[in-house]
Amino acid sequence: MQAKQVLKGMTPYTPGKQIEDVKKEFGLTKIVKLASNENPYGYSGKVKEAIPTMIDHLEIYPDGYAAQLRDKLATTLGVDEKQLVFGCGSDEIIDFICRSYLEKGTNTVMATPTFPQYKHNALIQGADIVEVPLLESGYHDLEAMLEKVNKQTRVVWLCSPNNPTGSLISCEQLVHFLDTCPSDVLVVLDEAYYEYIEREKDPDSISLVSTYNNLVVLRTFSKAYGLANLRVGYGVASEEVATYLNITRGPFNTTSISQLSASIALDDEAFIQHSYEENVKNKQTFMDECKALGLDYYDSEGNFLFVKLPTSGDALFEYLMTKGFIVRSGEALGHPNGVRITIGSAEQMKELAAHMKEFLAAN
Ligand SMILES: *Cc1c(COP(=O)(O)O)cnc(C)c1O
Repeated sequence: MQAKQVLKGMTPYTPGKQIEDVKKEFGLTKIVKLASNENPYGYSGKVKEAIPTMIDHLEIYPDGYAAQLRDKLATTLGVDEKQLVFGCGSDEIIDFICRSYLEKGTNTVMATPTFPQYKHNALIQGADIVEVPLLESGYHDLEAMLEKVNKQTRVVWLCSPNNPTGSLISCEQLVHFLDTCPSDVLVVLDEAYYEYIEREKDPDSISLVSTYNNLVVLRTFSKAYGLANLRVGYGVASEEVATYLNITRGPFNTTSISQLSASIALDDEAFIQHSYEENVKNKQTFMDECKALGLDYYDSEGNFLFVKLPTSGDALFEYLMTKGFIVRSGEALGHPNGVRITIGSAEQMKELAAHMKEFLAAN
């Protein structure tokens, strides 16, 4: 059997440590997972209440068009329903984009480090990968990215807030980028952490989609909405781009349960507001604690903080795991001397900071 040559140099996704494994390995009863930027407050109680009513007729295929969710989201965002595409997480939309726009002989431009799925999926389509290092500050080097765009470039990826650094691309920067980038190059703005962006800094990216036909904005129900397990993400683009992505999409890629849950979650604004406010507060307190410990970090508009360390990220990661805290070592994220930590509840963060203090005193 001959798999694509490119696959021979690649590996399946290595997930963060699983809770049950860590419990067993270290004989712990309580584990706090701050590794995947999940919502520490769970998900909307309205969704929880409604799920038992959704289990009839699992033998019937879902509506792949997600008409009800589509209609509601289009109204909420003020776009036409033909401008939307739904995915099994926004991960799947990243794949649709690569399958629709990339092939051998084309290239795609992205930052590094950034969300690894752009590169992963683009490689499988045979495209050349052009990676542009982030600035010292952790922000995208947008000018350098623009310089790398050439005749073969089909897709540019902007992750804002950037995973793993948390840095935000401002509205002015975004507009400048879109004005400068050739209009036949697709610009993907991945806003997986959109709901956590400080309200005054909201770049209102959806409104830019009507001006720039080559812009696609990705969002997800996995992070602030707390529905990571149900796998729903969406893209907002021009009708032309959305149509191509919908052609590439499998016929039944989201389930009725996920669609209906997302739809209910969308209405529970109080849940999002609470998650947002707690995140702002707990992130600030944690940043203050890091400062007191002499640790620097990148500016973050997400629900996570990338903390720079005098040691390898693995060392702190291993230490925290023995204390029942799972974080993400920068080692796996292309930035070895640091860790990416999801902002948990106030209580969780207080305990975590105390363990970090012990670690630094001993190392
Ligand atoms: C988590 C994440 C995603 C993917 O989330 P889904 O669960 O697939 O919707 C996409 N982009 C970034 C930057 C992320 O951090």
